[in-house]
Amino acid sequence: MTRDAAVPNVVDSLTLEEKCKLVHGAVDPDGTATGYVPGVPRVGVPELRLVDGPLGVRVPGEAATAFPAPIAVAATFDPELAREQGAAMGREAAALGQDALLGPGVNLIRVPHGGRNFEYFSEDPVVTAAFAAAVVDGVQREDVVATPKHYVANSQETRRLVVSAEVGDRALRELYFPGFEAAVEAGAGSVMTAYNRINETHASDHHRLLTEILKDEWGFDGYVVSDWFGTETAVGAANAGLDLEMPGISLEAMHEAFGLDPDTVMLDEEDESIPSGDHTTPRFALELEAAVERGDVPQGRLDDMVARIVGQMARIGLLEADDEPSAADRRDGSVDRSAHEDVARAIATRGTVLLENDGTLPLSDDADVALVGAGGDEAMLGGGGSSEVTPTHEVTTLDGLRSRAEGTVTFERGVSRIETPSFFDGGDDAPDAEEPGDETDFDAAVDAAREADAAVVVVRDTTTEGADRPSLRLPGEQDALVEAVAAANDRTVVVVQCGGPVELPWRDDVAGLLVNWYPGQVDGDALASVLFGDADPGGRLPVTFAPEGRYPTSSPERFPGIDDEAQYDEGVFVGYRHFDAADDDPTYPFGFGRSYASFEYGEAALVVDESGDADHVRIDVENVGSRPGRDVVQAYVRPPNVDGVDRPVRELAGFEAVELAAGERETVSLALDELAVQRYDDDAGWTVDEGEYTVEVGRYAGDVRVELSFSR
Ligand code: BGC
Repeated sequence: MTRDAAVPNVVDSLTLEEKCKLVHGAVDPDGTATGYVPGVPRVGVPELRLVDGPLGVRVPGEAATAFPAPIAVAATFDPELAREQGAAMGREAAALGQDALLGPGVNLIRVPHGGRNFEYFSEDPVVTAAFAAAVVDGVQREDVVATPKHYVANSQETRRLVVSAEVGDRALRELYFPGFEAAVEAGAGSVMTAYNRINETHASDHHRLLTEILKDEWGFDGYVVSDWFGTETAVGAANAGLDLEMPGISLEAMHEAFGLDPDTVMLDEEDESIPSGDHTTPRFALELEAAVERGDVPQGRLDDMVARIVGQMARIGLLEADDEPSAADRRDGSVDRSAHEDVARAIATRGTVLLENDGTLPLSDDADVALVGAGGDEAMLGGGGSSEVTPTHEVTTLDGLRSRAEGTVTFERGVSRIETPSFFDGGDDAPDAEEPGDETDFDAAVDAAREADAAVVVVRDTTTEGADRPSLRLPGEQDALVEAVAAANDRTVVVVQCGGPVELPWRDDVAGLLVNWYPGQVDGDALASVLFGDADPGGRLPVTFAPEGRYPTSSPERFPGIDDEAQYDEGVFVGYRHFDAADDDPTYPFGFGRSYASFEYGEAALVVDESGDADHVRIDVENVGSRPGRDVVQAYVRPPNVDGVDRPVRELAGFEAVELAAGERETVSLALDELAVQRYDDDAGWTVDEGEYTVEVGRYAGDVRVELSFSR
């Protein structure tokens, strides 16, 4: 018997009451799961445990590998590493007795201030789709359900429960859907709805999004789960296509169980404009049974909800069909933590982006280094919120540098700690809170830098779920510290730990500039290997860095919205699509990053598929530098001009990384995604315009090393 052959029989054998119990959360008797569905032992339906989240597995009281944040994963431009990370998270979830992982986060990064940008991959849909599919595949290889979230147009935290994304079909199709669609194609067993409304209809009440597009058009056969306390109606949501309501606990009980700080948690109960009501019990628990009896929700819809949930239980081996290994067999608590830490280290290293280098980097082995800055003596694990993970181990920058350097490494923080607000610390989330005994000496840090061969300044932003960043400037006195240190030592290297774009006003005054995002528990190890040149900084920017005020969302109508409506009327002109169209050079373009090596591109050609359409670029890449290095070759498509059609100047169509020793040459092959060729017409649907398309091959958006063309 195949794993899911039993599902229809199981559904048939359940009573109405039992079915209704399977479609909403309840309190987990083990206290380990973020979301829990009790089973029906009478007919062999097991329990289902859902656990956060995209940066690692969050089980209260348990440690798990704290991986680099998804934005750092995307900066690797290496979906294979993301697949390994997904598999590692899947194994850890299973070992901790969990069945579904609440991730990856696949919302497109639209607003540079977004409080959850670190949980998402990119401003580009082709990058987002590649990483979404890879993580889903990795997680589900381990017989754990992946849950891409939050469907859809969940671009901001400000008023996230009520704001309506006023967004057109073209932008949805070309930008906001591809990550979800790729996740579904990769077999995602679940999709989580967003908190927000889309064109006035709440995400979990949205029949068109949930049933017509996700299920009917994309063929999604898993279950749609609500975001926590994010279901507005019972009958509306069930009929729209929501299959599972979460959680199954009152907000007050949740505060208590998780030690949540009532002031920072995601919902404001006092705010009467939030229509989610009293949040006391799942709406499906209160209303669904009667609604089915009345016929307001068809019996067939309830059966489908149950079949989708039980179907996923079957797929991951929880129904224990006789001839299949049981998922329970693997849940013995053992995982190879050191192998998982190796994956985290590989991502953190490869995702590190080198923005400036006057030759100071890599540092020589025997350099005496003055380490300064808020990020020097704490590993940067992530932002605040449901993605917080308790790490299995932590390597600070100071530890990492001290174990790698042959010279001396001194440390003076110079500024107050930059605290990451936490949902789980019961309170102290002031960004610049100085802890007792945490005295800082700005001048001592500058003096130490003056004495050393090189200064490394580690600065960081602070972000959290539930709030957007008020500014793209670094918090506290960090900019002043960088300026003072750079004035004291002309071999000053700045390392920026950030969850999205930040402003870098001193960038022309420093000798080296690296972005290593939220690198997770191996922070210092990965950074030391890049600083001393054991590894090439292989990362590229998955988001454009530009001054605040020049992003397309720099008007209150667009962000955070007026009267709880955020106008997405920039349409498809998000990220580099905006800067290209506005002919505005950003500070650092999308896809940008330097290497310690130098690369030259040689012969290039387009390769056609059976139907004669160009579907690959082949190009020779040579490392003409004196060190080994990693290049990320990128191909952008420029469409033909068509009267009356406003298209981005260029769209990323494909990317491929290559690691080359000094003097080595290789032919690299890049698949071209049709998404960059076609456009979505609100009336005609997907359209390919006739004419000549240019393919620009280069190292970032707008960098044209080789031009090719094809006709359609
Ligand atoms: C977040 C989700 C998360 C859920 C459970 C919500 O606040 O938006 O991403 O999975 O909580 O913790």
